[in-house]
Amino acid sequence: MTFHAHAAKQAKVHLKPFDYEPKPLRQHDVEIAITHCGICHSDVHLVDGEWGDHFPLVPGHEIIGTVVAGKAFAPGERVGVGWQRDSCGECEYCRASEEVLCAKNEATCVGNFGGFADRIRVNERFTFRIPKELPSETAAPLLCAGITVYTPLAAYAGKGSRVGIIGIGGLGHLGLQFAKALGCEVTAFSRTADKQAAARRFGADHFVTGEPERGSLDLILNTAHVASDMAAYLGALRPKGVFCQLGAAPEPLSVPATLLIGGSRSVTGSEIGSPAAIRAMLDLAARHGIAAKTEVMPMAKADAALDRTRRNQARYRMVLAN
Ligand SMILES: [Zn+2]
Ligand SMILES: [Zn+2]
Repeated sequence: MTFHAHAAKQAKVHLKPFDYEPKPLRQHDVEIAITHCGICHSDVHLVDGEWGDHFPLVPGHEIIGTVVAGKAFAPGERVGVGWQRDSCGECEYCRASEEVLCAKNEATCVGNFGGFADRIRVNERFTFRIPKELPSETAAPLLCAGITVYTPLAAYAGKGSRVGIIGIGGLGHLGLQFAKALGCEVTAFSRTADKQAAARRFGADHFVTGEPERGSLDLILNTAHVASDMAAYLGALRPKGVFCQLGAAPEPLSVPATLLIGGSRSVTGSEIGSPAAIRAMLDLAARHGIAAKTEVMPMAKADAALDRTRRNQARYRMVLAN
């Protein structure tokens, strides 16, 4: 058996067709014929060698496809896979439904070959039924971008919370939709005014290009890949407000101590979400018609599609289709 994929052999080279022998199908694995795979900024960081030497690398961790083999699902069932493909299943975090924190967690496309491929084999515990309401090409990005914004919203916000979302891209446009679906009052922050109409369509009640209003928000999600003006954004939080960093900014966040102490504000981060959270996220998306806005390209054009994400040209998420 040979799986066909698109791989980078070293940092900063073009993706090329790549065939490989998959690892044997274990007792609790599912084999999936991939129909769609979204492209995340993490894929760009990996391909460009910014997160270490993981080559040869098959990117892709926003996967939807149909079940070919495995005991937990019927053949032909439509399922998805996100960033995490396995965990130990026994540690304190796995037992508490916080598998993402497991020390033995395995990433779908780091140390394993990911979703820019025709097939994949992953643990059934990290394989999710896709609700029938969700089309594959607009649901694939929910498996990473969607759960990344949903997890802190579910943890720190609720009905009536005032939520600010910085950056209206792959993560941000889903953050606006999930915040709205959870009953929040939502403010979109963007550097440029040209995203105002789109942000409002995605659910923003307010749109701000300049300084945030002081003491106006309960939760801020920073989806941008740069460190923000922390003094301005911490000052925009109400007492006990939370600033949550989601974009992988390479430079440190510069946090003024006085704004943390006065008002008991918090700065935190969040990564993806547990299988239970992914199921809840997909269910909420199905009930509210949450959909990524995507540009679909054929899998054979994976390299060109990845480059659109690298150049921030995707509106708002690239999805590869087999
Ligand atoms: Zn991702
Ligand atoms: Zn574990």
